[in-house]
Amino acid sequence: MAAHPCRMAALKIYGQARGPAPTKNMTTILIKNGRVIDPANKIDGVLDVLIEDGRIAELGKKISSPKSAQVIDAKGCVVAPGLIDVHVHLREPGYEYKETIATGTRAAARGGFSSVCCMANTLPVNDNAAVTEAILKSARDTGVVNVFPIGAVTQKLEGKDLAEIGELKAAGCVALSDDGKTIANPAMMRVALEYSKGFHLPIISHCLCPDLMGQGVMNEGFVSTELGLEGIPHEAEDVIIARDIELSHATDHHVHIAHLSTAGGIEKVREAKKKKIKVSCEVTPHHFTLTDEVCRSYDPNTKMAPPLRTPSDIQAIKKGLADGTVDVIATDHAPHALSEKEVDFQDAPFGIIGLETALALSLKLVEEKVITWSRLIELLSTNPSKLFSLNRGSLKKGMVADVVIFDPEAKWAYDVQQGASKSRNSPFHAQKMKGKVLYTLVNGKVVYEEK
Ligand SMILES: [Zn+2]
Repeated sequence: MAAHPCRMAALKIYGQARGPAPTKNMTTILIKNGRVIDPANKIDGVLDVLIEDGRIAELGKKISSPKSAQVIDAKGCVVAPGLIDVHVHLREPGYEYKETIATGTRAAARGGFSSVCCMANTLPVNDNAAVTEAILKSARDTGVVNVFPIGAVTQKLEGKDLAEIGELKAAGCVALSDDGKTIANPAMMRVALEYSKGFHLPIISHCLCPDLMGQGVMNEGFVSTELGLEGIPHEAEDVIIARDIELSHATDHHVHIAHLSTAGGIEKVREAKKKKIKVSCEVTPHHFTLTDEVCRSYDPNTKMAPPLRTPSDIQAIKKGLADGTVDVIATDHAPHALSEKEVDFQDAPFGIIGLETALALSLKLVEEKVITWSRLIELLSTNPSKLFSLNRGSLKKGMVADVVIFDPEAKWAYDVQQGASKSRNSPFHAQKMKGKVLYTLVNGKVVYEEK
């Protein structure tokens, strides 16, 4: 499957589609008195941050304010590199009634995310450069945060023929995934890994064996039996995780396990990392916050894939978050229209929105002393940037000034109706939260400010 010569030429044309570059003569911003947490540079202390021309100009104690600088007093707040969500469904093109790049990136900004990676299950599927280019153009024209597209592994996500991988890379895709669908055929997955390795594109794997999943709609266990709903067993996820770890090992290429939800999966990733296999993984706030008990409400906003699991899975995920087995917290932000979710549990689509609640839910991990402050930022910014080569997630002098400022003590209640997302499918509506984003900066510009 060598790249066609005209595709190689395309490499030069599409060259550098990695989010908007900072422009000169932008506002100078001085963020004062905040607790700066920047694990990439081993910084955790009260410091000032000076931003000039869209980049970090200085980091230090008591920086004097240059003339005409906008000063933000961040006393009592955390100042960190902008959060990065590597698992977002922006739904554009094709499903604009659920979400658009304009609304999805605004939801991201409200949640403290300065960058999102968007999944390929759009219509048409992002399996060729034309779609990637269209996404990036819309992101430039209508988006407020950086958008890094993820290309499809296979054409139309059908699991049969490889997508135009070289073309996708050249157009600006940062990873490949058939997310929403599992690549069921292991031979296909192996070829995809071999081929994408040459383009340095990690494969993000949505791990649910279709045969074991069957028509399951929630976690298989006591609760599903009591409710009379068909279950998705743990092993539906675990067998694919095990397979992909083997294939990662065999091809020596990076597999990233998406939305890992089982204790067995955590154990497999932990063992693989000991053997230096190139595997990484993410977990979502809903999987470490809720169990399948909440499905007793028959609320379709508790239906997602993989499903909400059990207390012992949450325990294992938390252990993985603490000991470094888990690399990333990602939302799997999956907007669906009201008309789609206001149906019987069995008939509703999988997925919930998550951009605006992720930080507050993750902050609970710090409060419960599961993880440290610096580990929290590592999971939400440093590691996502590193794993997908986004060149962000750091406040080092000269870096693009993507910054989040949040008040870890601020209490609020989540009102899904007031959200920036076009969709309302969240199980966290009306819940009390602690920790609120006050500012999100992208390329040195304030794109969200709490009023
Ligand atoms: Zn998925």
